[in-house]
Amino acid sequence: MTAERIDGKAFAALLRERVGALALQFASKAGRKAGLAVVLVGEDPASQVYVGSKHKATVAAGMASFEHRLPADTSEADLLALVDQLNNDDAVDGILVQLPLPDHLDEQAVIASISPDKDVDGFHVTNAGRLAVGQSGFVPCTPLGCMMLLTDRLGDLSGLEAVVIGRSNIVGKPMAQLLLDANATVTIAHSRTKDLPAVVKRADIVVAAVGRAEMVKAEWLKDGATVIDVGINRLPPAEGEQKGRLVGDVDYAAAQGVASAITPVPGGVGPMTIAVLLRNTLVAAYRNAGFDVPEEL
Ligand code: NAD
Repeated sequence: MTAERIDGKAFAALLRERVGALALQFASKAGRKAGLAVVLVGEDPASQVYVGSKHKATVAAGMASFEHRLPADTSEADLLALVDQLNNDDAVDGILVQLPLPDHLDEQAVIASISPDKDVDGFHVTNAGRLAVGQSGFVPCTPLGCMMLLTDRLGDLSGLEAVVIGRSNIVGKPMAQLLLDANATVTIAHSRTKDLPAVVKRADIVVAAVGRAEMVKAEWLKDGATVIDVGINRLPPAEGEQKGRLVGDVDYAAAQGVASAITPVPGGVGPMTIAVLLRNTLVAAYRNAGFDVPEEL
């Protein structure tokens, strides 16, 4: 058996097209474009790349992008004042503060200052709480993207055994909540889990979000499992390579012989994250304008 490759890149492109078409409709109905503000503090190279791609994708989807690049020594008071200004700006539907922040800034305090109704990253405790109790809010983009790939492939997840490896606030925990909401039987495994291979063995659905290159082995998987690999890890460069290859948390080549479907790295979960960010921003715009959110979102 060779597992089907779950093409997150293609799925994300379709989602972005759908968001683009609806963003046009929103603009004509509201008399303004949906808007996303992205705040970057400092010069972290990876963050600069992420912020640049978010800006491009926002504009390409027909939405307004407001970029705020602040120096690394920005004070917390100045950053909170900017967030406050964005909270009160009617042209801004979504606010994203790019993490990690420089050490002198308190990430939790900054996230807490974002209006939950503009928190399109879904990191605010109010949105984490809404997800936990089943109210509509904003769900972090990466796990929501994983969920879209899973339901697209499997349809109804009721009664399926799902194992999420990793319990971070931005991936593992919200992923488990989403699976539970979809009536899967959910186990969260983490660094202290005993006998991880045995836990993974019972899973119809495995979501790996650890950050350890090719940690999940093919022998751990149940025959026919559906595998979502969130991990992004760079291997040390092989001879003749300038940069090492990017790999996931799952041994992809071997897992293909056991799983029924699996996301590749790159080209699986990664492209979904920005597409879902655009989707969340448009949802925020519809809600903030007092319109019903279209079903297709
Ligand atoms: P994190 O470091 O916050 O959490 C990692 C989790 O893995 C922890 O909960 C820890 O308990 C668990 N863990 C660590 N060692 C383990 C072990 N040996 N066995 C079982 N569990 C173990 O990481 P995160 O932010 O949740 O990200 C996880 C991975 O996903 C990283 O590789 C990250 O780069 C990637 N990621 C990708 C996207 C994307 O867009 N594709 C988005 C976010 C994160």
